[in-house]
Amino acid sequence: MNVLNTVAEFRAARAGVPEPLGLVPTMGALHEGHISLARRARAECATVAMSVFVNPSQFGPREDLSRYPRPIERDLQMAREAGVDVVFHPSVEEMYPAGHSTWVEMEGPAKRWEGEHRPGHFRGVATVVAKLFTIIAPQREYFGEKDFQQLAVIRRLAADLMLPVDVIGCPTVREPDGLALSSRNVYLTPEERPLAVALHNALQAGRRRIGRGEREAETVRRVMEQVLLDTPGFTVDYVAVVDPGSLEPLKRIEGPARGLIAARIGSVRLIDNMSLAE
Ligand code: AMP
Repeated sequence: MNVLNTVAEFRAARAGVPEPLGLVPTMGALHEGHISLARRARAECATVAMSVFVNPSQFGPREDLSRYPRPIERDLQMAREAGVDVVFHPSVEEMYPAGHSTWVEMEGPAKRWEGEHRPGHFRGVATVVAKLFTIIAPQREYFGEKDFQQLAVIRRLAADLMLPVDVIGCPTVREPDGLALSSRNVYLTPEERPLAVALHNALQAGRRRIGRGEREAETVRRVMEQVLLDTPGFTVDYVAVVDPGSLEPLKRIEGPARGLIAARIGSVRLIDNMSLAE
């Protein structure tokens, strides 16, 4: 497995590699969720590239950029074992050289939810994903449904900038109790960890309620929110029942619906989502 740190090195190595090339963009601190994307890419692509870059521009000023875990040797070992051919691991200066002044601003699916609660987040995500696209030139890009809004934003970005790439969404990998794997789960204290499954429990409660015939989205939303309010230590950022395409809130559930949740426990902010109706 090749590990490259600069744009020039990557471009030189990119010429002539077997295609299609699949890219798995990550911020490192790899877990089975990331690895599931790499395996899917391995099964579908002649060359698998993974980027490992903690992108400062997608963190807010009071967020966890400085404490975000960066276990690079372990990450490289896991990437190697998953069959990744090349890792792009640039420095911040390499990705944002002095004088960097161009940003990708998005509306539509980037507006609500994470967009409201983390101002500037999707501007940072869209900018780095556009830059990675021009450096790595993948035919396919693999993203997790764990970050459901991010997936919608990147699909929109690729369509709007007419990027010749297939954006592929992959299912969320969970712990046995249902907690979605996340690099941020390491922040949870032993007391908080069992409570964190409340996000998944809330989504399941919403899904069950619809399964029993409820069609009012607000009723389902409240059922989910109540699960979090009943769990000690949680602060809710948002609980929403949305159209899976537009991410706009639904009034009535007559077709596909997605539940989106963001909540804090202690100092840890967790997000999760699930299909509530197909
Ligand atoms: P991150 O390193 O958190 O930026 O995530 C990199 C990619 O891995 C994103 O496309 C995420 O959606 C995806 N991912 C993160 N957690 C999971 C998970 N539990 N299951 C599937 N994909 C995930």
